[in-house]
Amino acid sequence: MSLSQADILRALELVKLPASGQSLAASGRVADILIDGGKVIFAIGIDATEAAAMEPVRKAAESAVGGLPGVTQVLVGLTADKAAPSAGMQARQQAHRPAPGGAPPKPAGVPGVKQIIAVASGKGGVGKSTTAANLAVALSTLGLKVGVLDSDIYGPSMPKLFGITGKPQIVSGRTLGPMEAYGLKVMSIGFLVDEETPMIWRGPMVISAITQMLREVAWGELDVLVVDMPPGTGDAQLTMAQQVPLAGAVIVSTPQDLALLDARRGVAMFRKVAVPILGLVENMSYFICQECGHRSDIFAHGGARHEAERLGIPFLGEIPLAMPIRETSDGGRPIVASDPSSAHAKAYIALARQVQAALGGATRAAPRIVIE
Ligand code: ADP
Repeated sequence: MSLSQADILRALELVKLPASGQSLAASGRVADILIDGGKVIFAIGIDATEAAAMEPVRKAAESAVGGLPGVTQVLVGLTADKAAPSAGMQARQQAHRPAPGGAPPKPAGVPGVKQIIAVASGKGGVGKSTTAANLAVALSTLGLKVGVLDSDIYGPSMPKLFGITGKPQIVSGRTLGPMEAYGLKVMSIGFLVDEETPMIWRGPMVISAITQMLREVAWGELDVLVVDMPPGTGDAQLTMAQQVPLAGAVIVSTPQDLALLDARRGVAMFRKVAVPILGLVENMSYFICQECGHRSDIFAHGGARHEAERLGIPFLGEIPLAMPIRETSDGGRPIVASDPSSAHAKAYIALARQVQAALGGATRAAPRIVIE
């Protein structure tokens, strides 16, 4: 028998709020209930000052729902509209306060950051991080102020892709200054922890780490913040897609059927949390021999375009499989920055234009004033 939202709310009738004694289910604070097989994820809306007092309620809610037949895993987050200066981590896990009338609540924006986009893929190794890094540089060549948030906690790639070493400095209180490369502001867990240290992250820790990197970093004024998502479509990704105020998502896939199957899951995941899909990019789309110029469709080029049509989402473009892309990525010099006039860089710039158009007017660069 499959679980329903009513089953979850029934279990939450047994959890009482400390101040009023009212049941959590009746309080209207439960939001964003997601049920995926035996996994249940939801948020409890709080005032930031209540974070400590509500932690036992969060735990009680987890065990009440965890006791339901058929539930294998429960993830409950406390979410607040405004972070209180001294409230706990949960208070910083922003903004899923249930909206009146039951409309899905949106996470709060990041001050100074106009739009946040996710670059995601259904699985690892399709070139998601390479695409995110080059897309970010390409957006900045269009005149936008761009930041990159590497949210791939398990395998951060941005320090290497941008050739950044060193550690971010604290600029005030708990706020870190982002690192900078090629005119972009960059933050990654890779700057904060030793590459060799094995890290075991549980779901809520992942969300806390991402929330901190999003909200406790002095990003300044940005037109676009590009978030490199962890590969896959598991709980961490789903919760993250829900917690980060995303304007849209770019899905990266290689052209083969198997990769496209994963990309389809990515599209479904963002649809589930009502994040607009900006479109699908085909990476490693075709190969042009550097010696003879012969083109080979190694992974059966064109699959992503067909898939995008099938799914009813925009197709954003094709990036070739090319040695210079790999060499520059692995060397910490994204090709759009190191060889901007190359055909490969132009493919990323074309992609950036598509993304900018899909995002609409909000990311338009300020017009240049020319005095003659
Ligand atoms: P993901 O983030 O999906 O795991 P990466 O961006 O780390 O993938 O890319 C995996 C490997 O593929 C890296 O060595 C990268 O340099 C290489 N790569 C990515 N895109 C291309 C491309 N278009 N052409 C050649 N190599 C690429």
